Amino acid sequence: QELPSDDWRCANCSCKFCQEHLNHDAPDNAEVDSLHSCSQCEEKYHPACSPETEDLSSVSNQAGNHFCQQSCRLLFEELQNLLAVKKDLEPEFACRIIQCSHEDAPETVLDLDGRVECNSKIAVALSLMDECFLPIVDQRTGINLIRNVVYNCGSNFLRLDFRGFYIFILERGDEIVSAASVRIHGTKLAEMPFIGTRHMYRRQGMCRRLLDGIEMILSSLKVEKLIIPAINELVDTWTSKFGFSPLETSDKQEVKSINMLVFPGTGLLQKPLLNKQASPQEHPGSEGDADAETQGSEVMDQLNSSKEDAGSCKD
Ligand SMILES: [Zn+2]
Ligand SMILES: [Zn+2]
Ligand SMILES: [Zn+2]
Repeated sequence: QELPSDDWRCANCSCKFCQEHLNHDAPDNAEVDSLHSCSQCEEKYHPACSPETEDLSSVSNQAGNHFCQQSCRLLFEELQNLLAVKKDLEPEFACRIIQCSHEDAPETVLDLDGRVECNSKIAVALSLMDECFLPIVDQRTGINLIRNVVYNCGSNFLRLDFRGFYIFILERGDEIVSAASVRIHGTKLAEMPFIGTRHMYRRQGMCRRLLDGIEMILSSLKVEKLIIPAINELVDTWTSKFGFSPLETSDKQEVKSINMLVFPGTGLLQKPLLNKQASPQEHPGSEGDADAETQGSEVMDQLNSSKEDAGSCKD
């Protein structure tokens, strides 16, 4: 396995605290200087550079996860505690965070039954995504991107390393109606490359319900903003109906240093999340919601395809 020589990798392999670049020529046994990868924000860091280096033992947990600082450890633990927990949104509807637990992964808080149930919901979420999006295959490796995102598969190639992705699902009774893939990069931001709704539930405001649930959970975790890729045709819908806006120049710089999933032909949009603690039932303007749904669907009908490329909201 050769390391990719591309320059893009290097923006992501320097210490987040001292900015010192990883010495690619250094022998691997230079443990002191070696960069660790944070299990929550995925950023690289020298353990000695962490501002909380004095209680380093509490920064890493027993399950073999490493964290660059306390806030990442706390965020990780809160997310683990939310795993598979049902959050009621309104009568009939609930939101849930799920993640595939791999054989080789550190123990999660879920017991065996919980993990089996979680993994079966993940399989349903993948079939839902397949219903919504055209397959995206990495040219060089043949990897199915959507599948690997849904299954939070790791890779030595940074652009294909999808560890840390969670799936947020909207459920009606026992049925999964909508699903979204979300990766949280520390408390700074979360990315959501895919959100989709089952065919039979489209144009009924499901995307809005799930998004409300996602925003509520992320803001309770003190995540500052949500970032999505959007195709040109849907930028207007996301901005006028869902409260997203294009990234400022300074945001673009920030995003550049983070390993995010980006697609050609899409632009990034963001939405601030803090102070969004209100329960989703109190969302203003239900008539506006119905309108947003129609408009979004009409835009997608014009694309003249039953499946969409990444960057569209399949609702
Ligand atoms: Zn490098
Ligand atoms: Zn450092
Ligand atoms: Zn971190």
